[in-house]
Amino acid sequence: MSFDYKLLIGGKWVDGEKKIEVKNKYNNQAIGTVPLTDENLYEKAIKSAQEGFSIMSRLPSHKRSEILKKASSLIAKNQKNLEETIAQEAGKPLKFSRAEVKRAVQTFKFASEEAKQIHGQTIPMDAASGGENRIGFYMRFPVGIIGAISPFNFPLNLVAHKVAPAIACGNSVVLKPATMTPLTSLKLGEILMEAGLPKGGLNIIIGPGSTVGNWLVKDPRIQMLTFTGSPPVGKNIKQNSGLKKVTLELGNNSPCIVDKDCDLDFATQRCVVGSFAYSGQVCISVQRIYVHKDIFKKFTSDFLERTKNLKVGDPLDEDTDVGPMITEGEAKRTEEWVEEAIEGGAKILIGGKREGAIYYPTVLTGVEPEMKVVNTEIFAPVVSIIPFDDFSDAVRMADDSVYGLQAGVFTQDINKAFQAVKGIKVGGVIVNDIPTYRVDHMPYGGVKESGIGREGLKFAVEEMTDIRMVVINLPE
Ligand code: NAP
Repeated sequence: MSFDYKLLIGGKWVDGEKKIEVKNKYNNQAIGTVPLTDENLYEKAIKSAQEGFSIMSRLPSHKRSEILKKASSLIAKNQKNLEETIAQEAGKPLKFSRAEVKRAVQTFKFASEEAKQIHGQTIPMDAASGGENRIGFYMRFPVGIIGAISPFNFPLNLVAHKVAPAIACGNSVVLKPATMTPLTSLKLGEILMEAGLPKGGLNIIIGPGSTVGNWLVKDPRIQMLTFTGSPPVGKNIKQNSGLKKVTLELGNNSPCIVDKDCDLDFATQRCVVGSFAYSGQVCISVQRIYVHKDIFKKFTSDFLERTKNLKVGDPLDEDTDVGPMITEGEAKRTEEWVEEAIEGGAKILIGGKREGAIYYPTVLTGVEPEMKVVNTEIFAPVVSIIPFDDFSDAVRMADDSVYGLQAGVFTQDINKAFQAVKGIKVGGVIVNDIPTYRVDHMPYGGVKESGIGREGLKFAVEEMTDIRMVVINLPE
């Protein structure tokens, strides 16, 4: 496949009547076409996943592990091709696309190890009266067909976080990647076929969430949905998916506390990376920085100095730090939110400029909690720096959010670190680093409007398997 890509259904590359053009997000040039899935192709994908499940669920774990291990090496072998595809279709600067491919290598490796660790546990039945002479244990079984719906911002590694654990536990998958970034998924599909994944183990369909995505959501033949994307779509999926198992990895307006006793240089450097990497289009991008008033001036001036040095431009250029946003519409939305904050009394310290789909790294101060730039996920290269006097206030402000994915806190004081751990209701607190920190085997996911369930291979495997209890009645 080079320009005219096809869908992956039943181990074959299948064409469709209508096509969608995929564009380079920096220069708007077409880089490929993909078939739009119609109802007929959708039915074929479901049938293939049903057949795929009967094969996948019988595959021994050592075989599933071997396929995942091979896929991991093939991703590494295809590093250059994959990183360039991500840079073009997602507009992600090469340095971050490269890091994403490296992470996907690890995600598949961890999944290959996890495939051999899926087990149950014995239960001391006679702890209950009536449990005498009973042996009890549970086993884990694959749930069945998993519908995976992924966002545009990590077209490889977030797909890996769904597909790899699903394979590790013997499920089959129907994947619908974001329409903006489907090419990387198709390349991953090619890699998995080469790695020996049975036909129908992974099926890839492409089309808008409002139609093709929604078919998956409502389809009773799908046993589980694993979704990563925005909170409004996540809520819609939960409301329309009936009794299916659902995991939802949603957004955040990540807070980061910088206390006066921290390593200021390190904190500043990391906060700049966390605010602007991939134009802030990361679910754990730094959006609110609470800085102690004694270091506020120094932190802010160092932060601005570093921000000035970021290179804005073509994602395919090795030196680029900030590329375009996914669409010009998203850049315009960002512009509106910043304008609204300015009207409400906020100040732009740097940035606030748009050129087409590029929104320049922007730092705000003088913001208020009721402004959208503070209380709603901005998903753009915009960060607010807010002073605090008392650490307890910083914790309270960090926690004051409808979201709860990850938070960061820079402090040398262990008591304050634990005050933040206890006081901020989130899925993860990162001490002495930014909320943007993640490795791929840790439990990752949110509370409140940031979602339900966890990814990270071991934890995704728990979500993607059903427990079956076995009780044996032994004669006395
Ligand atoms: P999005 O607009 O919610 O789209 C995500 C996926 O859902 C796409 O494949 C989309 O399809 C599909 N979709 C849209 N409407 C649907 C519907 N009614 N039914 C079924 N599927 C539907 O999100 P995005 O803009 O791609 O990604 C950004 C969001 O993802 C941010 O909020 C970010 O925080 C979140 N995110 C969360 C995590 C995490 O792990 N917590 C990680 C990364 C991103 P089409 O776009 O093809 O129409």
